[in-house]
Amino acid sequence: MRISTAALRQSDARMFTLVVEGLKAAGTRTAERCFTIPLSQMQATLRMINQQGGRLLSVTPADQASATPEPASTVANAAPAPVTTPVKHEAVPVNLYKPKDPYIGTVLGNYSLLAEGAIGRVNHITFDLSEGNLHYVEGQSIGIIPDGVDSNGKPNKLRLYSIASTRHGDNLEGKTVSLCVRQLQYEKDGETINGVCSTFLCDIEPGAKVKITGPVGKEMLLPPDEDANVIMLATGTGIAPMRAYLRRMFDPGERAKNPGYQFRGKAWLIMGVPTTPNLLYEDDLQSYLSEFPDNFRYTKAISREQQNPSGGRMYIQDRVAEYGDEIFTMIEDPKTHVYMCGLRGMEPGIDEAMSKAAESKGLNWSELRPQLKKADRWHVETY
Ligand SMILES: Cc1cc2nc3c(=O)[nH]c(=O)nc-3n(C[C@H](O)[C@H](O)[C@H](O)COP(=O)(O)OP(=O)(O)OC[C@H]3O[C@@H](n4cnc5c(N)ncnc54)[C@H](O)[C@@H]3O)c2cc1C
Repeated sequence: MRISTAALRQSDARMFTLVVEGLKAAGTRTAERCFTIPLSQMQATLRMINQQGGRLLSVTPADQASATPEPASTVANAAPAPVTTPVKHEAVPVNLYKPKDPYIGTVLGNYSLLAEGAIGRVNHITFDLSEGNLHYVEGQSIGIIPDGVDSNGKPNKLRLYSIASTRHGDNLEGKTVSLCVRQLQYEKDGETINGVCSTFLCDIEPGAKVKITGPVGKEMLLPPDEDANVIMLATGTGIAPMRAYLRRMFDPGERAKNPGYQFRGKAWLIMGVPTTPNLLYEDDLQSYLSEFPDNFRYTKAISREQQNPSGGRMYIQDRVAEYGDEIFTMIEDPKTHVYMCGLRGMEPGIDEAMSKAAESKGLNWSELRPQLKKADRWHVETY
């Protein structure tokens, strides 16, 4: 964390009040603490906060301590300020079930998420986890080992799928896991090829037994901070982890289950699909919009129906370019996290849009992105 030298020169004699959370003292973490210090001690105090794993919430001139505090980033940093201390997460379960000894889950439900006229096949599939000890948190993935053998006669290998349910499962009883699966289908030498595992899953019937591994992944975990801002960039089934976050944030049953997590920040989903009938979980999203209009924002890029400013198809990167200024203003707040999930092809376009938006603010995206990543504020899972 840096203090600009301009600020040092201008106000050397002034006192500042720092509000900090999560400082480690005697083995425990404090909730919130205030320090009033002269500017000359600012660097040393910030170093101490970093060393003790604390998070700077605000910096206010001491004579304005009762006024609305300025966000820490505007005082403490010349550029948007990724807090260097990564987010502290609760214990995250990993690899409870491995391919050699997978969990055998029973399919509880499998239905299409698409409306009439949609392109392709995308299903919501739920497995029972009531036997054994398979549990997970939002943002993780599980492995599925499809039945059968590969072209070499060897047992099929596992494929990963982002978990689309919260840790409580869709029925809130904590003993199910749900996925959002698109059937892979492509043409080769005039023949339609169906993906092995995605077809296995899209075709599966309730009651069938499926080999499940995991959970895995710590890249897409949601910050525990109820006041965080969460920008979500998703294409197609990339909505799976976002669906889990949004349920955790806004579903009434979920909120009742999580007294320690009553989301109060801003959640902004920017979603890319080819056509309106391909929109996923639309009813839930619309209900969050009407119940939480101050906290949830939803922007769509419907490539085959909407046009970008150059008259071409509207892709997610066009929306990122359109709202670049607002996205960057949000990123200046150290409480803002960005999540990207979907097909790998979405990354270069979004990177380019972010670079342009950064440039117009006098910032360098290729320097800023690794800082955000290091601070656990830039999360990418593409496949
Ligand atoms: C962390 C992670 C999370 C994921 N989450 C999800 C999710 O939530 N939902 C989801 O649906 N998927 C998700 N996936 C993708 C998933 O793991 C599988 O890769 C996908 O379902 C395809 O598997 P398959 O067995 O159906 O295809 P396979 O039978 O394994 O076929 C895939 C292979 O087909 C070939 N291929 C693919 N497209 C073409 C083409 N156009 N032309 C020629 N060859 C081609 C490639 O060689 C490719 O490796 C995720 C992947 C990862 C790594």
